[in-house]
Amino acid sequence: MVNYETELENLKNNSCYRSIKNIQNKVGKYIFVDNKKMLNLSSNDYLNISTNTDLKSEFIEKYKTSPEFIFSSASARLLTGTSTCYNNLEQKISALFNKESALIFNTGYQCNQGIVSSLFSKGDVIFSDKLNHASIVSGLKLSPAEHFRYKHLDYDNLEFLLKTKRNNYNNSIIISESVFSMDGDIADIKKLIELKKKYNCLLMLDEAHAFGVFGDNLAGVAQDKNLSCDVDIFTVTLGKSLGSMGAVCVSSNTIINYLINYASTFIFSTAIPPVNVLWSNFLLNDKFDYLKNQKEKLTSLYKNVHSIYPSNSNSHIIPYIIGDSEKTKDKAIELQNKGYYVLPINPPTVPKGTSRLRISLTADVEFDEIKEVFR
Ligand code: PLP
Repeated sequence: MVNYETELENLKNNSCYRSIKNIQNKVGKYIFVDNKKMLNLSSNDYLNISTNTDLKSEFIEKYKTSPEFIFSSASARLLTGTSTCYNNLEQKISALFNKESALIFNTGYQCNQGIVSSLFSKGDVIFSDKLNHASIVSGLKLSPAEHFRYKHLDYDNLEFLLKTKRNNYNNSIIISESVFSMDGDIADIKKLIELKKKYNCLLMLDEAHAFGVFGDNLAGVAQDKNLSCDVDIFTVTLGKSLGSMGAVCVSSNTIINYLINYASTFIFSTAIPPVNVLWSNFLLNDKFDYLKNQKEKLTSLYKNVHSIYPSNSNSHIIPYIIGDSEKTKDKAIELQNKGYYVLPINPPTVPKGTSRLRISLTADVEFDEIKEVFR
C-alpha cells in the first residue's frame, strides 16, 4: 500500500513536488503572478493568440448570434454533440495537411492516447521514441500490441529494433513527435520515412509543438520539409500555438473511420464546446495571414536566440539544462526576480539528472528583452 504522505514528502525533499500556481492574469506576452508583471517565457501560446483582445472582440461580434455560440456540446459527437462547425474544422485542417480526413478530439492527450491504444491489436508492434509525450506512452500501455521504445532520435537504435523485431509481428507503426516538447529538437522525418518504407510500417507524427510554427500552411515540420504525403497519421493540438482548445488527428478516410468506431477517448467523452470550435475556425479561416505573420516573427526570434545560445534545439523551445533539481529551482527564482517567468522542469517529466528551465519563446517577445536570460 502506498503511503501517500511519505511519497509527497519525498517529492518535496527532491524539489520535484508539483503544485498549481496562483496566476492572476495573462496579457499577451506578459503574465501576472504574486502581483508582479513578468515576461512569460513558459507559455505554449507561441503566436500570442489566446489573450488577444482585438481578435476576441472581432470573434464575439461575428458569432454572438450564431446558434453554435454556446459553451457546451452536452454530449459525445456520436450522440448529439456535433454540428456544422466541427465538420468545417475537420475539413479545414485536413486540407491544410493535404490529407483525406480529420477527427477532432477534446485534447491532445485524448487524441494520442485514443489513437495509440485503439489502432493496433495483439500480434502487432509499435516503435516509439523514448522521449515521446506522456499521452503516447499512456496509449502504449493501454494497447494490446507489443511496443519498443528506441533511444531518443537515435535512428540506428530504431533500425536495430526494426531489423530484429519487426518480422515477428503483423502490423507495425513508428511514432515520433516532430518538435520535442522538452528539448525543442526535431525528428529527422526523412529518415523515419525511409525506415517506415524499408520495414513496412505506418508512421505517426505528433506535431503538437510544430503546428502554427512550421510549414507554409502552418501544418508543421513535415510540411516544412515537403514530406507530409509519406506520413500516415498526424496529431495536432489546438491549445498551443492556435490559442484555442482541442486536438485533431489527420489521416486517411479509413483510419479516421476506424478511430470513430474504436477510439474510446473519442467515443465516450463529451465533445469540446462548439464555441471553441468556432474560435479555431475563425482563426484558421479569417485570421490566417495574421497567424502566418506571427509565425514569421517567432521564427526570426528563435533563430536569433540560437545564434547566441547554441543547444540541441532547432525551434522556439529552448532547454536550459542545469541537471540538479535544487539548482534549477534557484535559477528559476533568480530569473523570476529579474522579471522573466521561467519554470523548473524536473523528473519524471524529463529524464533524471536533466532538470532544466524550459524556455518557450512567443511571437511578440523582442530579442533585446530576453538576451540577458541566455548570458
Ligand atoms: N503531444 C505533445 C507532444 C504535447 O507536448 C502535449 C501537451 O503538452 C500533448 C500532446 C497533449 O496536448 P493537450 O495539452 O492538448 O492535451
